[in-house]
Amino acid sequence: MGTDEATEKGSSRTRAFAVRQWAVWSLPTRLVGPVLLVEATSLALVVLGLFGHPPLTPGQLQVAVVLCLLGIAHTEVALGVERVRRRVTDGNHVDLSSVWTFAAAVALPASYAALVAVIVHCHLWWRAWRLRVPLYKQVFTTATVVLACLAAATVLERAGGGTDPGSDHQLWALALALLVYTTVNSCLVAGAIAVSTPEANLSKVFAPWDENMLEIATLCLGALTAVALGINPWLVLLVLPPLLVLHRAVLVRQLEQAASTDGKTGLLNAAAWHAQAERALRRVSRHDGARGVLVLDLDHFKLVNDTHGHLAGDQVLAAVADTLRTEVRDRDLVGRFGGEEFVILLGGLEGSGTAELEAVGERIRRRVADLRVEIPTPDGPLTVAGLTVSIGAAISPAEGGDLRTLLQIADTALYTAKRAGRNVVRMGFTLPSHHAVQHSPHLSAAAGEPPAATG
Ligand code: GH3
Ligand code: MG
Ligand code: MG
Repeated sequence: MGTDEATEKGSSRTRAFAVRQWAVWSLPTRLVGPVLLVEATSLALVVLGLFGHPPLTPGQLQVAVVLCLLGIAHTEVALGVERVRRRVTDGNHVDLSSVWTFAAAVALPASYAALVAVIVHCHLWWRAWRLRVPLYKQVFTTATVVLACLAAATVLERAGGGTDPGSDHQLWALALALLVYTTVNSCLVAGAIAVSTPEANLSKVFAPWDENMLEIATLCLGALTAVALGINPWLVLLVLPPLLVLHRAVLVRQLEQAASTDGKTGLLNAAAWHAQAERALRRVSRHDGARGVLVLDLDHFKLVNDTHGHLAGDQVLAAVADTLRTEVRDRDLVGRFGGEEFVILLGGLEGSGTAELEAVGERIRRRVADLRVEIPTPDGPLTVAGLTVSIGAAISPAEGGDLRTLLQIADTALYTAKRAGRNVVRMGFTLPSHHAVQHSPHLSAAAGEPPAATG
């Protein structure tokens, strides 16, 4: 061990005992209270439950040990996959170990199920997440899982035991327990996100739909695990292969998502936007309404960098991206084309689409002009305001045009907007083919002089 490493280890040990230096105090003040409340409640309920419940029967003890061992084995086998998952996403993260924690909630008394959850989670954190997830976050995550386990197990205890799949009544109780588990868990996490980022909208606070489906699928596997345990503990080994395959499939999906996302803004990157926009334009349907494209370029953005530095510039880009996302519907495709240029494909526009597309462009232009980006700096917060954006717009022909032409038209309109003094929206119209020359940095062969653009 080198001297630096030894010093680092020594100082982190000192930090662990110096309560005042715990990282949890670095949380926003409004978050510390609720976080500590959730943690204290889960601890108190587990301790009270353990004192109030008779010791486990040998059969229950066996189930608890088997679930802990399987949870640990799962983590060890999927260690590489789990570490990469943590590296590629830092947001909501469905935890596949809930197979074991939910099975425990079904098969064991509430407090003992919570203990299994604590053991499985501690091992998972130590082996796979430690370098990326600070301890205080992990303690909160474990507390939410403990409360979910307690709630689900209590539902089943009230219903009279959960592992006898024979009766309809038990099946309903199992389904209710599953619902209660996922609701308690996601509401606590959502609550923490909502308190820490009050400006976050519902889709940011609650995980996306497919993540919730993954959570439910995981809990279903947990329910089957508990039922299998009641029949023959060896049957539980059959759960591991599908779980490992699911784990890998989730990683592939997360990698795909990371590869299509622009790191600075969280928007689609240029390649992913092109691919998805091509697909959307091919899916011409009578019910979809008109489609249009907006190409946006921040005005004099170089000045922002020159005045406040590139890091501030990056935060401005992220704030503009957030504005774009909130000003369009979820199904519209928002991408970063590169630098300070963005692109949006909108569908379902009314009538010919021209008026609505122009109105959306105008609304975005105003929102960007009103934007005040607060940037924390060592010398206190810095506010960047007075941003403007120029926007070029183009409507796709009703019979479904090709994306390249659409982008050429919108890009030419953007060029016109810049020449008109910036901070304006310009509609583009179909170009005669002989006008095509090159001027756009993001179109390989873009339209040139703006012949037919009007404002
Ligand atoms: P115009 O109104 O003509 O568009 O002027 P502009 O300054 O916005 O355009 P120009 O193309 O001259 O400069 C674009 C600037 O965008 C230059 C570059 O430093 C900045 N930029 C590009 N990508 C990034 C990025 O990822 N982060 C930051 N901070 N700046 C970027
Ligand atoms: Mg530019
Ligand atoms: Mg610019």
